[in-house]
Amino acid sequence: MIVSVTMNPSVDISYHLDEFILNEVNRVAHVSKTAGGKGLNVARVIHLLDVPVTATGILGGTLGTFIENQLDRDGIAHDFLKTNQESRNCIAILHEGKQTEILEAGPHFSTKEKNEFLTHFGKFLKAGNIITISGSLPRGFDASVYTEMIRLASEQQIPVLLDCSGKVLEQVLKAKKAMPDLIKPNIDELNQLLGKKLHAENLDGLKTALADPLFADIEWVVVSLGAKGAFVKHNDTYFQVKIPSVQVVNPVGSGDSVVAGLAAAMLQGKSVEDIMKTAMTTGVLNAMETQTGYVNKAKFDLIFQQVEVIEMK
Ligand code: ATP
Repeated sequence: MIVSVTMNPSVDISYHLDEFILNEVNRVAHVSKTAGGKGLNVARVIHLLDVPVTATGILGGTLGTFIENQLDRDGIAHDFLKTNQESRNCIAILHEGKQTEILEAGPHFSTKEKNEFLTHFGKFLKAGNIITISGSLPRGFDASVYTEMIRLASEQQIPVLLDCSGKVLEQVLKAKKAMPDLIKPNIDELNQLLGKKLHAENLDGLKTALADPLFADIEWVVVSLGAKGAFVKHNDTYFQVKIPSVQVVNPVGSGDSVVAGLAAAMLQGKSVEDIMKTAMTTGVLNAMETQTGYVNKAKFDLIFQQVEVIEMK
């Protein structure tokens, strides 16, 4: 099965307001509350593809219970380490065509929770499993938590797909202690990592960038390029992956859906080409839906047939 890790899950609350007035009482009639966090999107999409998945990470309090109840409702298996600290709310206020976000920092953990989680994580390290790790870390945890998880998994030859950004990604890669099998930066995250200003159209530039020694020990580097598909390094081979033009409804969570597609296709033992095609298909399918981290499997074949993989010479 696939084990999808979310270290800092949240309850994502959306408040829809015609007008947002500061320093006044704003009453909200249209509210949505969902289990959030990038790894939970990954788990949901894998589940929608009918591939076995378990969601894990750390959660606690009534918001933790809310997240578990939502996963139960959606039929997604889960096994989180429980903490007595309350999980966080992330609030998006949608008003006048704008989005104002209020993101709680969430729980603050120490070495005690780090060790407890690594022990908990150990039970998923069984032959045949694939691990995905997505998103930011809770306060008190640093990149060494991810490095340690990758090290434990690689000792058992269990593939790890890592989708995080900024300092944490940089520190994991530069530590050179244990490398993930796959990373999936988008173009902005790649530019930030390398201190470059590459555009999605600059395929030669992307190829040169991915030849950086930083990526030498990573089997897959999948750079997602939004509507322009992806640029991929698989070992020493480079690919441009083109996607069809579709009616886009909500592309948020498309990156998570790409990770879901990659993991699902790997678990199913698909070819290198079909792993890339599956990942782009799930990214596109998510962009076609209102809900974040959701794909309509019935449209899978239609999109898959239109994805084109071109090897770069
Ligand atoms: P997010 O952070 O919202 O999850 P991301 O920035 O990590 O997304 P993107 O590069 O925007 O990821 O998109 C991932 C994939 O989703 C793309 O490679 C593509 O397959 C699909 N996708 C994204 N935007 C579009 C779009 N406008 N039209 C079609 N497909 C899209």
